[in-house]
Amino acid sequence: MSSRQPAPRTQVRRLPDKQLHDVAERDRALDTALVAHIAVVSDGQPFVLPVGFARDGERLIVHGSNASRLFRSLAGGAPTCLTVTLVDGLVLARSQFESSMHYRSVMVFGSCTELHGEQKSAALATLTERLMPGRGIDARPPSPKELAATCVLAIPLQEWSMKVSAAPPDDDPADLDRPVWAGVVPMEHRFAEPVDAPDLRAPYPVPQYVRSWPAGRH
Ligand SMILES: Cc1cc2nc3c(=O)[nH]c(=O)nc-3n(C[C@H](O)[C@H](O)[C@H](O)COP(=O)(O)OP(=O)(O)OC[C@H]3O[C@@H](n4cnc5c(N)ncnc54)[C@H](O)[C@@H]3O)c2cc1C
Repeated sequence: MSSRQPAPRTQVRRLPDKQLHDVAERDRALDTALVAHIAVVSDGQPFVLPVGFARDGERLIVHGSNASRLFRSLAGGAPTCLTVTLVDGLVLARSQFESSMHYRSVMVFGSCTELHGEQKSAALATLTERLMPGRGIDARPPSPKELAATCVLAIPLQEWSMKVSAAPPDDDPADLDRPVWAGVVPMEHRFAEPVDAPDLRAPYPVPQYVRSWPAGRH
């Protein structure tokens, strides 16, 4: 098991027993989630952008429009904080105060590097393969014009923390006699039945790689 010590900024202080240092668990969460939230401050105003992302070894890849003011700011090296969150269930305690969620969340501090040329194309291919495994072969790759319109950023997994909530309800002893059910309602991360595009030119079958997705994500 690979793990590491947190830096002062990544030491969880609130409920520190929920902090995980295991890199394999971190990667399992990062490889399950599809969406990250990346923060940037522009003219004193904080913005938090939801983006699709991919883990590429010890870095995360995100992409956006080259016309995006906020992406240009990130590309310029603005300090950022990125979070990835998976909700794994709802915790129904006997009190509203103790009711909560099961979750896995990863927080990454640092700044982004803009990728160009071969690195940019490779990172986009990684993003497609990660978000839609198998699709890279079927879908047309980006044209030079599309590439020019796209900003591709990498943020290193150097300064990060992970927090996991996975315990049963932790009720006040005075509430334990309350005559109501308590427990956890788990949530799964999986896909539902694919829906054909209305403009399909022929009754093409849903690709096998798509059929394999629900089982592959957890
Ligand atoms: C799905 C979900 C729902 C949540 N709902 C609530 C809520 O309703 N109210 C609430 O107060 N808190 C909630 N939390 C927890 C919240 O994210 C913070 O962990 C918590 O508020 C403690 O904040 P703090 O400023 O005291 O953190 P501190 O412990 O002081 O933070 C210190 C460092 O710990 C790390 N850290 C803190 N929180 C996280 C995290 N979640 N993931 C990864 N690293 C982290 C960071 O590196 C941070 O710099 C929720 C978390 C998740 C994932």
